[in-house]
Amino acid sequence: MTESLRIKRLCLIGVGLIGGSLLRALRRAGVVDEIVGCGRNRNSLETALKLGVIDRIEQDPAKAVLAADMVVLAVPLGAMQSIFTVIAPALAADAVLTDVGSTKGSVVKAAERAFTALPNGFVPGHPIAGTEKSGVEASFAELFDGRRVILTPTANSSPAAVSRTRAMWQACGAEVIEMDIAHHDEVLAATSHLPHMLAYSLVDMLARRDDSQEIFDYAAGGFRDFTRIASSDPTMWHDIALANQDALASLLEQFSLDLQKLAEAVREGDSDYLKNIFTRAKQVRDEFQERGKSER
Ligand code: NAP
Repeated sequence: MTESLRIKRLCLIGVGLIGGSLLRALRRAGVVDEIVGCGRNRNSLETALKLGVIDRIEQDPAKAVLAADMVVLAVPLGAMQSIFTVIAPALAADAVLTDVGSTKGSVVKAAERAFTALPNGFVPGHPIAGTEKSGVEASFAELFDGRRVILTPTANSSPAAVSRTRAMWQACGAEVIEMDIAHHDEVLAATSHLPHMLAYSLVDMLARRDDSQEIFDYAAGGFRDFTRIASSDPTMWHDIALANQDALASLLEQFSLDLQKLAEAVREGDSDYLKNIFTRAKQVRDEFQERGKSER
């Protein structure tokens, strides 16, 4: 599949961490002839050009997609709809259009508002890989090696477009799976979006205390491990929280109830309750780690 992939002109809108890493990985695989980079900030595009991540800068998205056989949107979720609207009249009829957005229902809705009918070439996607950093300088070719990419084809996505999008990610070293759009958003709310909300909320809660300086001065490994993701880009996470409102709010409410029960157990010295939770959670987390090792 990978050997047969040839992309003549790839247009990437949003040359940041994820988009930049995708391009570096495609360069490494040697499957793309020309890369057009598009974004708002000229300086970061110049940086991408200097780094050899893109071949050409085009700041107008409608011009950037012209004659591209692969178009990838790697912008924050809140920017998707306006970009779909601008590129809709300019997209080549046979172009494959995909995205890397962290939620899929919102991206498909954005596309539905922008296109009269969802294009056959449109295949929503989401690489399950990333870091807490942003920007093209933080991008690297190995980001997707051995990681999963979820494609959530729409009812209109053509098999040929799905197969090309799949081949693109496989060329980047990823394992590609397909999932229903709503299911994707529910699963990701639990595995990614909820932990980010907890990390942001914990750091913010501690930072608002009078003794916050002392708390952070003495913070050890556990705090670092738990809160690393609170260094992620606030705009991106603002967009994700609002794009996956229902699934995320339900989980946050469920988690608050569990936290309340935990607080009661601590206050009342309910050893059994605490031991049960900690033992169950440790077992699940250890199994998860082991599975991760054998999959690598
Ligand atoms: P990033 O490093 O901040 O890159 C985003 C890029 O989008 C920047 O180059 C920015 O450049 C451009 N951009 C922002 N607003 C734009 C607009 N209105 N029009 C055109 N370009 C715009 O962010 P990222 O981490 O790569 O995230 C990009 C997407 O990947 C998001 O949708 C996110 O949900 C998804 N994602 C992220 C991760 C992760 O861990 N980071 C993982 C999986 C998926 P300019 O400022 O120059 O426009």
